[in-house]
Amino acid sequence: MSAHVLAEGSWDNTLRDSSKGVFHRCIDCTEIISNPICSECLGKQMKQMLGEIDPSLAEKIVTSNYAGDTHCIGCGSEMSLCAHCFSKDVYEQIKELNEVAAEEFLARFDYDLRVIYC
Ligand SMILES: [Zn+2]
Ligand SMILES: [Zn+2]
Repeated sequence: MSAHVLAEGSWDNTLRDSSKGVFHRCIDCTEIISNPICSECLGKQMKQMLGEIDPSLAEKIVTSNYAGDTHCIGCGSEMSLCAHCFSKDVYEQIKELNEVAAEEFLARFDYDLRVIYC
């Protein structure tokens, strides 16, 4: 992951000055997180889906949550990674282990991943 050094006048300062401080950005892609679901909530759904295809695969997936200023709409936990970056992270783990499951994963959790991989 790249270093997050914020120069003066960068987006972060712009946001801090604005009254629209409710919009927070992903720490990875810096896109505004418009539909915040934390890694725990999303990871649970993903593992459930993967478990139907390959139970051992679901156990191997690592879902790490990053605390931040955004709160998950599901459980209220702090988070700072958007669904797109999180699912990309998980997809990269799956495709190494099970290509069929990876395809199915893309069909179910298509957070703009096809733009990158298809
Ligand atoms: Zn992101
Ligand atoms: Zn959550």
